[in-house]
Parts: sequence; structure tokens; C-alpha cells
Amino acid sequence: MSTFRFQALKETFNRQPIEVELSEKRLSESFGENVFNEHAMLQYLTKEAYKAVMDATSNSGTKIDRRIADQVAAGMKDWALSKGVKHYTHWFQPLTGTTAEKHDSFFEPDPGSGRALEKFNGGLLTQQEPDASSFPNGGIRNTFEARGYSAWDPTSPAFVIGDTLCIPTIFVAYTGEALDNKVPLIRSVQVLQDAAVDVAKYFDKNINKITITLGVEQEYFLVDSALVKSRPDLLQTGRTLLGHAPAKGQQLDDHYFGSIPGRALEFMKEVELESIKLGIPVKTRHNEVAPNQFEFAPVFEEVNLANDHNSLFMDLIEKIARKHHFRALFHEKPFAGINGSGKHNNWSLSTNTGINLLAPGKTPKSNLQFLTYFINTIKAVGRYPDLLRASIATAGNDHRLGANEAPPAVMSIFIGSQLTAVFDELENVTDGKLSPEEKTELKLNVVGKIPEILLDNTDRNRTSPFAFTGNKFEFRAVGSDSNSAGPMTALNTIVAQQLQDFKIEVDALIEGGLKKDDAIFNVLRDYIKTSRHILFEGDGYSDDWVKEAVEKRGLNNNTSTPSALIAALTEENIALYKRNNVMSKVELEARHEIQLEEYLMRIQIESRVLGDLARNHVIPTAVKYQNLLIENVKGLKDIYGADFKTLAHEQLEMIQEISERISVINTEINKMTEERKQINPIEDIEEKATKYCSDVKPYFETIRYHCDKLEILIDDEMWPLTKYREMLFTK
Ligand code: ADP
Ligand code: MG
Repeated sequence: MSTFRFQALKETFNRQPIEVELSEKRLSESFGENVFNEHAMLQYLTKEAYKAVMDATSNSGTKIDRRIADQVAAGMKDWALSKGVKHYTHWFQPLTGTTAEKHDSFFEPDPGSGRALEKFNGGLLTQQEPDASSFPNGGIRNTFEARGYSAWDPTSPAFVIGDTLCIPTIFVAYTGEALDNKVPLIRSVQVLQDAAVDVAKYFDKNINKITITLGVEQEYFLVDSALVKSRPDLLQTGRTLLGHAPAKGQQLDDHYFGSIPGRALEFMKEVELESIKLGIPVKTRHNEVAPNQFEFAPVFEEVNLANDHNSLFMDLIEKIARKHHFRALFHEKPFAGINGSGKHNNWSLSTNTGINLLAPGKTPKSNLQFLTYFINTIKAVGRYPDLLRASIATAGNDHRLGANEAPPAVMSIFIGSQLTAVFDELENVTDGKLSPEEKTELKLNVVGKIPEILLDNTDRNRTSPFAFTGNKFEFRAVGSDSNSAGPMTALNTIVAQQLQDFKIEVDALIEGGLKKDDAIFNVLRDYIKTSRHILFEGDGYSDDWVKEAVEKRGLNNNTSTPSALIAALTEENIALYKRNNVMSKVELEARHEIQLEEYLMRIQIESRVLGDLARNHVIPTAVKYQNLLIENVKGLKDIYGADFKTLAHEQLEMIQEISERISVINTEINKMTEERKQINPIEDIEEKATKYCSDVKPYFETIRYHCDKLEILIDDEMWPLTKYREMLFTK
């Protein structure tokens, strides 16, 4: 009997929900209690310091001088000490895609008095130099001159976890290049805000600030920790490399939105409570489509904060899952044959006057404003689809993009039939100056008729990678394990560029004598015509679509990470980032290298783990079972003599099948290992990553196929690897 698997199962069967004690307090009363938010700042900061932080919060880039920083640090320390905190850390997001922290104690001995004190000052708050030389930097920083520093980001408030005060920071090289995901995001927010405000002036002079909003739907799987520990592939690669599909998977749809199983529910309650205390506005929790798959969604926030919150939220989910004897799997495709996980990025723009610019309004005038931002976003995606595709490219997400139950690797936008009808009519508006009749016609019949609630967007096309969902765009192709900063930086930048270009075009027409509304209509009509290729309302999963997209519309279908990354690093795109001060060429190229490197390392690790599992777990088990069959055949021969062949017919076939499969598995592993040996010395990172994809990865499928066939042939009691039905259906 395979002891490891059965021990794990036994442990799991005895689990009970770990009940979470909820206090009488309402969630709203706990909201933000572990955050150094406005409320706490009012209590702990001087008036001067409070004002400085508030200014910096609403205007990223505002400097806080050293004297004020000292005051903020003192207040922050007192607040933290009042919560029993002993340590502080700069909390940042290096290019590994996760979060990093290095704790220091407030405690400091006071040599003079022989006693000790708690100390913290503005210098420690605003800047530190973590010895973080081993984080990927794509050659920006040589390790021997490990000069990267973290700097306080006052737009994202400090918070307390356990006994530690966490200060959100950016992470940059001494030479100024961004070494994290946050700096480019913050820069992209600035350009988009400026461009969006400039355009807003056409409609309302009172708009002087536009906020980019993000709401992140986070999908994940929960699997019992004992079962995960019994699967070396899950532990080391985050996904199962082997495993036959269970007889019952998700075909009955009986998990989706079903009642949440007891253990998972207790876990969720705790995640919610802790998130709420940290100011993360979690609102929704439910079962997702696949068995043991779930989702959390918060209320949207300003994009930089929302992204920090998502990173923090993922950390919380992981920690709290362990307390409940689960492992949270964020991999985009932990199990073959059932749905993978995404992180839907709901994105919009809202004004200081309280208007969501992507929500249709009540009047033709407000709808012209809506159409302007709506159509410019579409135009931006139509111009730069490869940048968006590259922004979500990871080894894990490759399994979703192009797999048949996830948005395809081809970028396209779904807008729904009502808005498509509006586009059809707008496209027919005559060029140049509009006649009074035309204007009335347009206003009353086209723009005026856009309903506030768009019916077909409530039941939206789930196969679209980028869908308009009534009052926001939903970038659905983002991977569940990704940091949203990458995709959001790309989206902000392309829309910013587009709005700048729009402004130039409209202004030129106005100067040429057209009325403002006419000019806007003219340009928008043009954009509709030139964006048709990116609009697609049909089934994004179908082969016909991929064919049409590539052959008729000239869209790229880059199904692998290396091809997607390489396609996006063009001179034009480098210039775009540079012109908008989002990233320099050096910063872009560094990220390119890091992403390719990460990709190939992941494939390399998967390849090794698969070889190991197949050779050291599957083949020995197959041999043992084969010996059992051989014993059986020999016994039959002893008893029945010459007649044994008819009686042992099936056993003999099974013996043969096992030998054949062992032989294929073994040869394929040898060939795969040989490929790795050939590729590893390659210096050129693009070539190396591409080869890992084209020459190593294809072996996974054949090896898996034969291992999975053996799984359903061999005695269940002997099988060493915990099975799909056990991982997916043990609650
Ligand atoms: P669904 O998309 O499933 O219909 P919701 O409309 O409630 O559900 O939104 C899903 C996510 O989109 C939530 O995180 C929500 O906060 C976010 N969202 C809603 N409105 C906006 C907006 N204006 N900007 C950004 N995100 C938004
Ligand atoms: Mg969802």
C-alpha cells in the first residue's frame, strides 16, 4: 500500500472546520483598524504632518521634507506601539511578482543609560537600503554593487500585520531605474490622469482630477494541505503535472455558486475579517466553476492602492489557508481538464466631480463624454494589442490563454449588441460639419438612446479577454497569480497615449473651424472605423475565431510567453513607454529579460519534476504491479498447464501494455533531458526561452498521457500519487 498517499487521505478525512470567532462588532467598525489611515493620522499626527501626508496621497509625486517626515514617523511609531507592534518593515514588490519585507525592531539600546528605547525617525521611514541584491534586476544592477533602495510611498497607507508595522514602498536602483512593479504603475497613473483630465476639459471645466479605479476579482483553489504535501508536483511547481481526470469533474456544474463547504467557509470568514481590518474592502465570496475553486472580490479602489491590496490579500489568503489546513493555489491551471483561475481586472476612470467616465449617462451630453473615453480605450487596445498580451504573459497563464475554457491569446474586445448598434449608426455620420438635422438626429437617436443599464452586459460574453461590462472594462485574461501592476501599467499607458493623440486631432479640427462637438464626433467616428478589427462579439473559444483574427484581421495569436514577450518589445512600443515616462528602454529590457528567464526556469523545473515523478514514482509502481500480474499468470500456469493462456489472456495483455508504456515514458524522459542539455548553454535569453517552449515542453504531454493511462490500469492501493478525485472532492 502506498503509505504516503493514504496517510494524507486519512488525515484529511478527520478534519473538522476550524471555527472562527466573530465578535459582536460590525465589519464596518473593524474596517481599517490595522491601517494608519486618515482617522489614525488625525489622532497621532501634528496638523502640519497630517496635511502633508494628505496632500501627498491625493497628488502622487508630492515631496515630504525631512522635518515633516520625522513628525510622521513619530506619530506612526506611537500608533504602532499602541497596537503592540515591535518591528517595522519597508514592504515592496520586487520583480519576482510577490511581496518582500525585511523586519527591523524599533528597539534600540541606549548606551548612555544602559537601558533601551523604541526608536524610529523620518529617515528610516522614507528610505532604506535593504540588502536585496538577489532579487531579479535584469542586469540593471550588478550584485556586487547591490545598491537598490526602498522609498516610502505615502499614497498607500502603512498597516500592521502581527507585530510588524508595514510601510508600502517603491524599490529603485541608485541610478533611478525601477526595480519593482509599483514604480512604472505609479508613473502610468500620472500620465493617464493628466491625459484624461485634458480631454475632460472639453466637457466640464470643473474636472481637475481623474482617478483610475481597479477592482480585482481573485480566483483560487483550496486543497487540503496534507494532500498537497503528498504531491511533489503541486509543492514544487504549483500545478499537477500528472493525474488522470476524475470520472466526475465539473460537468454537472454542481459546485458553482453552491453552498460553501464548512471548512472553506470558516477560512473565508477569517480572511474577510483580517482583510477588513487591513482596510481591504472585500465584499464578495463564492464557489467558482471548478470543484474546490473559489473567488473573492473587493470593492474597487484607486489602482495603486487596489494593487497593493491585492498583493497583501494574496499573502493573507495563503497564511490563513494554512491555519485551516488548506493550501491556497494561485496557479492559473493547477489541474488539467477543469477551469483555470484568473484575476479579472475591472478598470475604469472616475472624476473629482463623482462621475464614472465609463458609465453611460442620462443625457446626450454626458453620453458624448462616455463615448469619448469608451471609444478611446477601444482604439488604444486596437493599436497596441500585443502590449496587452505581453503584459499578462507567464508560464502559468499560457495554460489558460488558448486553452479551450479561457479567453484566447488573441486580444479582442466585447462591447455588447446595444453599443455595437450605436457604433453602426455613428459610423454613418457624414464627414466634416454636421447639419442641424444631423445633430439632432445624432443626439436624439444615437447618443441619446444609450441606456443607462446595458442589458447584454449583465450576462456578458465570458469568452472575451477584454469585455465592457456596463460601466467598466474587465480585463479578464490576467492570470490569477500575476501582480496586476504589469497589465494595469500597460493599459494606463496605451490609453494615455491614445487620449493625448485624440486631443491633438480634435484641437486641430476645432482650429480648422469645426465646432467642438462636431470635431469630437468626427474623430470618434474615425476611431470606430479603424477599431473594427479589435471588436468581437462571438465565441472567443472557437477555432473559427482564431482563424478569422489571424487571417482576416491581422491580429496576433501568440500562445506562448516567449512569443508574446518578443512580439511586444518593438521600437514603437519602447518609444511609447519612453515618451510617456513610464519606463526607459533599460527598464523595459530588464523586465523582458527577467520574464523570459522566469519562464524558462519554470519550464525547466517542471521538466525535472515530471521526469522525477514519472521515473521514481510511476515506473517503479508499474513494475510492482506488473510483477503481481506475472505472479498471477505463473500461478495459473501451474494450475492449468497448457490451458493457462486463455485464462490469463487479459493479464498478459496488461503485462504487455505496462511494458510498452514504461518504454515510452522512459525514452521520452531521456529525450527531454537531452534537449535540456542542448539548450542550457545557450546565452541568448530569447532563443533559450523559445527553445524551452518548443523543444522541452511538448514532452510533457506524451509523458503525462502514458503515466495517466497507467494510473487507471494499476491497483488503486499501490498508486503513490494522490488522485484528482481526492484532491478535488475532499472538502
Ligand atoms: P460583476 O462584474 O460580477 O457583475 P461587479 O459589477 O460587482 O460584479 O464588479 C466586479 C468587480 O468590479 C468588483 O471588484 C467591483 O468593485 C469592480 N468594479 C465595479 N465598478 C467599478 C469601477 N467603476 N471601476 C473599477 N472597478 C469596478
Ligand atoms: Mg469571476
